[in-house]
Amino acid sequence: MTNLLDEYDGEVVPINPKRDELFGLECYEDLGQVPYTVDMAVVVVPPTIVNDVVEQAGEVGVRNLVIITAGFGETGSEGAQRERKLKEIAEEYDLNIVGPNCLGIMNTGIGMNATFGPDSPLEGNISFMSQSGAFITAVLDWALDEGIGFKDVVSLGNKAVMDSTDFIEFWDDDPETDVVIAYLESIDEGGEFIETAREASEDTPIVVLKSGRTDAAAQAASSHTGAIAGAEEAYEAGFKQSGVLRANTVQEMFDYARALSGMPLPDTEEIAIVTNAGGPGVMATDAVGDSDVLEMAEFEEDTVEALQEGIPEGGNIYNPIDVVGDADVERFEKALDIALQDPNVGSALVLSAPTAVIDYENLSDMVAEMSEKHGLPIAGCLMGGERAQKANDALSEYGIPNYFDPSQAVKAIEGLTEYANTRKEEIREPTEYDVDRDRAREILERAEEGEDNRLGVEAMELLDAYDIPTPQGDIVDSPDEAHEVAAAIDGPVVMKIVSPDILHKSDIGGVKVGVEQADVRDAYEDLITRARNYQPDANILGVQVQEMIDLDDQTETIVGMNRDPQFGPLVMFGLGGIFVEVMEDTSIRVAPVSDKEATEMVDEIQAAPLLRGARGQTPADEDEIIETIQRLSQLVTDFPAILELDINPLVAGPDGVEAVDLRLTVDTDQL
Ligand code: ADP
Ligand code: MG
Repeated sequence: MTNLLDEYDGEVVPINPKRDELFGLECYEDLGQVPYTVDMAVVVVPPTIVNDVVEQAGEVGVRNLVIITAGFGETGSEGAQRERKLKEIAEEYDLNIVGPNCLGIMNTGIGMNATFGPDSPLEGNISFMSQSGAFITAVLDWALDEGIGFKDVVSLGNKAVMDSTDFIEFWDDDPETDVVIAYLESIDEGGEFIETAREASEDTPIVVLKSGRTDAAAQAASSHTGAIAGAEEAYEAGFKQSGVLRANTVQEMFDYARALSGMPLPDTEEIAIVTNAGGPGVMATDAVGDSDVLEMAEFEEDTVEALQEGIPEGGNIYNPIDVVGDADVERFEKALDIALQDPNVGSALVLSAPTAVIDYENLSDMVAEMSEKHGLPIAGCLMGGERAQKANDALSEYGIPNYFDPSQAVKAIEGLTEYANTRKEEIREPTEYDVDRDRAREILERAEEGEDNRLGVEAMELLDAYDIPTPQGDIVDSPDEAHEVAAAIDGPVVMKIVSPDILHKSDIGGVKVGVEQADVRDAYEDLITRARNYQPDANILGVQVQEMIDLDDQTETIVGMNRDPQFGPLVMFGLGGIFVEVMEDTSIRVAPVSDKEATEMVDEIQAAPLLRGARGQTPADEDEIIETIQRLSQLVTDFPAILELDINPLVAGPDGVEAVDLRLTVDTDQL
């Protein structure tokens, strides 16, 4: 109540059945007694009566509630039951509810502090949401010191009704919010989050600090993709696709936020560094070298010539520009002005150590002027103690952050550049291929008969239904039939045991490559014997006789899928063998993936050069790989019943791809 009464210009009405007056205000017995409909109710009653209050709110038309009370899903089965009920009521009356179990919300624009935190923040253009209420109070305390202001602050609590996606959507349309920052521990509807955040990122940058999760769920998975695409990878992929900037530390989150809230966006990925000190210049250059996004700007000839005139002997006219220790503000200005005129340069960093001839306040004013004049971001790294503090104050007046550490300044510009790149990219829709869904469903239904709802190569037709190329072949259950199928195929064949009980066929000698026509019958008998020896009661469906692919100029790749509880289907790509198993060199995206995302997946793996002919091979047909990734993405999006799937290997060569092996798990209840 005191927080609310403090600055809020609207009306606040206390409700409590035991009092007639509270804080000098008339107090009502319940929401129904208030003679008008309130805009929002802050609920701080005991957990056992929260739902009654919410129900009444719904009845009298109060549509917005902040439930601070704890004792819901976070406390056990009774609390969880209470939270389910709360959701039902919210749905019935179409209520917007923040919490329960949260600190509350603030809106500095209207001076509303509906939290039980100790301070109100400064006004600003950053909106902040957090899954931890305690983190909010710590951040606000620190931000007061740092002079960082906020528009809205939201403690998400248990997210029973409203979650991060709802707020992103709201802030995207809020003219007073320029940057969104979020501390998240989990994301509930991953697909929806990606879509909303990507859309919002078109004009509102979103910075997310996410704490880690355990990979226990991933370890329990039985496919390659399952073991590799764990929770952490899902978030990585989801954040990439949603256009959010991911911060790894609290410091980084605010470095990004401050840069994004006060500076223009760079128009290229190249940065110019202007310094009066050699050492820090080297540090900054190293930091640019470490960045995946930024590059040191290469100056045009004109730029170099112009710089030559203004910089004395002993300095450096190439990037990083060293204006030498005796540089005054004018020399800095000249160098910066020239560098920012260079068309390659998209941003700049001004580095300075204190000297007798440099005045940090004048230098700060100049930096702000130059940024304004060129419409480009300049980060300050005016180093030192008390002097630097003055520079901090002067620069922050202009919305420019100042850093002590050159690498931190570079990181902030990197964040801006990454966001500028996101904005430049158009949002692409996944390709919709013409496929045979009915046939796919029929094949998936066969999983009901198999052990643990698993399917193997006997389900290869599933891939045919989605036009993913497979070698010619068939499954047979007699030596004669095997011979017949082999005879219809040119040259030697590959024969494999087909059994849902045998996951790794080669491990038991269940794959024979290069079987000549004359040996097909014997090979059949041998495969069956091996399977029987391995597991006498194995359910053996037969033997697959398959066209043999000449692997000479081919690369074995893996395309797979695994479901993340939060993000849904994750599609994985990598090279077979040690690359996936030992190096874990894979790329992952949340399905459905677009053409561009599938292309990135191929680009991203470290072994990509091997596909492109690094060992003197003919390069593989990358377009076919990219198309296969998308077709698989469509398959697993169309059928939520597919829990895991591996095409291992998808053989890729100059003439296209062939899926020679398949393994999947189906939840037949979902078909
Ligand atoms: P599993 O993974 O269960 O051991 P696969 O069907 O993947 O069985 O076969 C194992 C390996 O045999 C493949 O990685 C590939 O090197 C080779 N192989 C399988 N099928 C063919 C084929 N049709 N043509 C050429 N090589 C094949
Ligand atoms: Mg295999």
